[in-house]
Amino acid sequence: MTNKYKYFVANWKMFGNIKSTDTINRVIKLSKQKNLKKVKIIYCPPYTLLSIFIKKLVNTNIDVGAQNCHQSQNDGPYTGSINSQMIKNLGCKYVIVGHSENRTNGDNNYLINQKIKSSLSNNLNVLFCIGENIKEKKSKRTKLVLKTQLTKGLNKVKNIDKIIIAYEPVWSIGSGLVPKNKELIGNIFFIKNFLKKKFKKSNPKVLYGGSVNSKNIKNLSLIKEIDGFLIGGASQRSNKFIDIIKKTFN
Ligand code: PEP
Repeated sequence: MTNKYKYFVANWKMFGNIKSTDTINRVIKLSKQKNLKKVKIIYCPPYTLLSIFIKKLVNTNIDVGAQNCHQSQNDGPYTGSINSQMIKNLGCKYVIVGHSENRTNGDNNYLINQKIKSSLSNNLNVLFCIGENIKEKKSKRTKLVLKTQLTKGLNKVKNIDKIIIAYEPVWSIGSGLVPKNKELIGNIFFIKNFLKKKFKKSNPKVLYGGSVNSKNIKNLSLIKEIDGFLIGGASQRSNKFIDIIKKTFN
């Protein structure tokens, strides 16, 4: 294993209840293995389970993140929302921003930029999701879309030390489809190059997300440019999640 951390972000989406939090005990056990020191596991359960996860994961090396936040830095009359200050206050270290399921629900690049800035000012690490949809891919606009999402999402953001990009082609999320290695390497390379130039950062972190499972992980883990994975469906079952983590290294 290299010196770099490999990230495994479990996005539970709108799934899970109090009982299902017991299933992570096996992942906690796995995370304590010495040979997994360079693995960073981050659980992003629904808001309703955040405090249970935080309590369960205290004294472990597993971190917790929220799946979204409101753009306002401060409290306010926004029914049904929670802001990054509240998320930080709970004990989360991460927040996902820009997930395509929230982009389709109204999160545009401007709002995403506000959310990123608000999260950074509350000292949260941001998992910033970007990716093209199938129409954009077919019309060969992927790089243009990625560039626009990065430029607008990171507008006036001064440094990206606390930002990890999750490259998630929208057509790949939940579909069982994964980009070909060559295409994936090209897009990750493009994102890293963009960030290197814009932020003068030698090693920006980029994860891949989209239908990662225990069957395709062996192939995906061959791509050295990928710093880890954002995993939706397959992270909700601990046995599958563990399988993915183990197969990344063996
Ligand atoms: C996701 O939720 O970001 C995701 C990649 O989901 P899935 O792994 O189910 O495609």
